[in-house]
Amino acid sequence: MPNYAYVDGKYCNKINAKTFIDDRGYQFGDSVYEVIIYREGIFLDLEGHIKRLRNSLKSLDFIFKMSNQSLLIIIKHLLRINKINFGSIYIQISRGICERDHSYHNMKLKPVLVITTKKIKNDFEEIIDGINVVLIKDTRWSHPDIKTVQLLPNVLAKTYAKKNSADEAIFFDENDFVTEGSSSNVWILTQDNILITRSLDGSILPGITRNTIFECAKHNKISIKEKKFKIKDLINAKEVFITSASSFVTPVKKVDNLIINNGYEKQFSNLLRKTYLNLYK
Ligand code: PMP
Repeated sequence: MPNYAYVDGKYCNKINAKTFIDDRGYQFGDSVYEVIIYREGIFLDLEGHIKRLRNSLKSLDFIFKMSNQSLLIIIKHLLRINKINFGSIYIQISRGICERDHSYHNMKLKPVLVITTKKIKNDFEEIIDGINVVLIKDTRWSHPDIKTVQLLPNVLAKTYAKKNSADEAIFFDENDFVTEGSSSNVWILTQDNILITRSLDGSILPGITRNTIFECAKHNKISIKEKKFKIKDLINAKEVFITSASSFVTPVKKVDNLIINNGYEKQFSNLLRKTYLNLYK
């Protein structure tokens, strides 16, 4: 069965889908994106993802005129023709196509919208054992708070993780403060049960799942502090977990081969995972 993509106004079989070599997304990473999870008629955190997409477009002066309603019609149609019950939707908008020039000043550019979908095979698992992570220096540009496709440091970090039998790489800054994962936000539960995650200080992506976890924590009467924490706090934590649209809440077992809290059960992490997943059942 063909896997259809939406590319600049047309639905086409993904293997035949084409974009132009003068697309600024291709040449400069001048492009923004979102990933949204869909399951049986429900989009997880749809409003938050669309809002962040609009913020990314605004931060980079993209003139993208399509309404949210039209965007949703295309997404729903694509899900239907690709027969997706549980999957992810990838939305990418590049600034447009023009002869290669660093500046876009006074250029008449029409943003190029591309949407693809991917089936997710395994259903929601409420309790999971957790993943291994590695630590890596954060070498990204000074705007990781904008969701652009300039992901080379993230790509290298995730590859470094996989090469070292881990599933995620966690970035730390020049003062050993944890920023975030290569594709996730990072949380710790201190030994005295305080949940901490870095504040939205411009050095992390404002995760949409992160935002919903605030509600999940409130629901479970868990208090959260938004503040910076160091590598040593991560290693000495009672629990560590990451959040993202595609990983939901995922406990961390080992950081650079050090076992978190002697490998004790990840109670809080799994409670928040369960609460999050139950929002969409
Ligand atoms: N940080 C980074 C760098 C990411 O790529 C992601 C995933 N998009 C996240 C955090 C988590 O964001 P969200 O919960 O919106 O998926």
